[in-house]
Amino acid sequence: MTELGVDKLLETLTGKALRREGPTRDEALALLGTGDDDVLDVVAAAGRVRREFFGRRVKLNHLVNMKSGMCPEDCSYCSQRLGSASEILKYSWISEDEAARAAGRAIEAGAKRVCLVASGRGPGDRDIERVAGTVGAIKDAAPDVEVCVCLGLLKPGQAERLREAGADAYNHNLNTSAENYRDICSTHTFDDRVRTVGDAKSAGLSPCSGAIFGMGESDDDVVDIAFALREVDPDSVPVNFLIPFEGTPMQGRWELTPHRCLRILALFRFVFPDVEVRLAGGREIHLRALQPLALHLANSIFLGDYLTSEGQPGAADLAMIADAGFVVEGAEERTLPEARHDLVALRRRGAGTDAPSNV
Ligand code: SF4
Repeated sequence: MTELGVDKLLETLTGKALRREGPTRDEALALLGTGDDDVLDVVAAAGRVRREFFGRRVKLNHLVNMKSGMCPEDCSYCSQRLGSASEILKYSWISEDEAARAAGRAIEAGAKRVCLVASGRGPGDRDIERVAGTVGAIKDAAPDVEVCVCLGLLKPGQAERLREAGADAYNHNLNTSAENYRDICSTHTFDDRVRTVGDAKSAGLSPCSGAIFGMGESDDDVVDIAFALREVDPDSVPVNFLIPFEGTPMQGRWELTPHRCLRILALFRFVFPDVEVRLAGGREIHLRALQPLALHLANSIFLGDYLTSEGQPGAADLAMIADAGFVVEGAEERTLPEARHDLVALRRRGAGTDAPSNV
C-alpha cells in the first residue's frame, strides 16, 4: 500500500470509529496488511479512538482460577485440556474463603474486576451454588468491585442464578473464526459458545467475549472473528495471544510478532471503538518491549498471573501504566462511555413508587 493509501485508510477508519461505525471487511483486511514501517501511524490513529472513549484510563482485571486442569474438553490451545501433558497446577474447587481472599488481594492492588474462572465443559448446579457463594463473599467485602464469572457452557437457568447472586458479567470467548473452530476443538462448537454468550446477556450479565491469536489464522480469519464478536455485541473483548504451552498441540508455535499483535489490537479498537478492549493472555511474551504501545489501543489489562502461567509482577504493570502516561481506572468510574449505558433507563416512577408515571 502507498503511503497515501495508508494515510487515507487510517483517516477513514478513525473517522468511522469516532462515529461508532465499524470498518468494512476490505478496510479491516487493508489494516492488517499494512507494513511494519506504518505501525506507529496505525497505533496513533487507533489511539485517538481509544482516548476519545476511554481517555487515559486503564482498567485492571484479575483472574482467580477456582478449579484448574483436568478438563474433559479438548481445546488445543489450552493447557487444561483433555490429555494435556503441561505441568500446570491441577486442583479441584478452592474454597469460597480462599477465592475471596485472592480476590481481596487483587482489589487491594488496584483490580476493578475479578474474574472467577473454572476449567470444565460447563458447571453443574452445585458448582453454580458454590460460585454464587463466592460472588456474595467478594461483594460483601467490596461492593463496588465487578465480578465476572467464566465457567464454560451454561445450561438453562444458570446465568439467571449467577445474576441473582450478584455477578456482574459472564466471560465466554469465541476464540477463533467459525470456520476454524473445528480445527481447534472437537468437543463443542462455535455455535455452542455463541449461544452461551447470548444466554448470559439475556440474563442481564454483561457479556465478555474475545479471541486468541497466533494459532495459524489468516488475516481473513482475524477479520471473521472480529466481525463475529461484533455480532454478539459484548461489553468487553479480551484479546489473547497464544501461550504455546509444552504438552499441548500448540506447543512451539511462535507465529506472532509484536507488530502483528499491535495491528490486531488496532483492528479490535476500530471494530469496537467504545467497547472495553482487554489486553489479555500472552501480552508479555508476544509484545515484549512494545507492551506500552498496546496501552494506546486496549483500555484494560489483566493484573498479575493468568490461569496456568505467570504474568509479569503487578508492580511492573503499574509502573508501565504510569510511565506510558496512563492512569488506573478507579472503582467508582464507569468503564464504558455513556452512550453504551443510555439505552436502558431503570424505572423509578409509576407503579411501586411515589412518582407519577410518564403517561
Ligand atoms: S478452554 Fe476451557 S473448555 Fe477448553 S479445554 Fe480449556 S478449560 Fe476446558
